[in-house]
Amino acid sequence: MARKERERLIARLREHGFKLTPQRLAIIELLDKRGHYSAEDIYGRLKQKYPMLSRATVYNTLEVLKELGEVAELKIKPHIVLYDPETEPHYHFLCRRCGKVIDVEPLPECDPEELPARLAAGPLKGYKIERVDLYIHGLCAECSKKNEP
Ligand code: ZN
Ligand code: MN
Repeated sequence: MARKERERLIARLREHGFKLTPQRLAIIELLDKRGHYSAEDIYGRLKQKYPMLSRATVYNTLEVLKELGEVAELKIKPHIVLYDPETEPHYHFLCRRCGKVIDVEPLPECDPEELPARLAAGPLKGYKIERVDLYIHGLCAECSKKNEP
């Protein structure tokens, strides 16, 4: 994570009375806006350097970041929650062969900021829409060049 962004995040966590242990700082350090992380990924990448790190600390830290709106939860993969440090609205693509998740810049006609209001004015009239997730599934460009199904 870029230094400035990290400092902003740390200040925000302090404001909310969140104690910043070396383990928690290491988790924050690891997060990059371009990445999507499961709690298990984070634990696996840090446990050697931080033997005191527990899975519970990873989960708690991610939960706090989620409550503060600093990470978004993605449920694009079955049974795995991914955390996304990029909280500006965007969409996601999952390749069913190589498993990579990529960010998709929304098309202007499908602006995620406008979608809730458009839905509430149309097919979901009278509903209160709190969130719209758009997950796109298929084969990435590299995988679609290969011949297997
Ligand atoms: Zn692929
Ligand atoms: Mn993303």
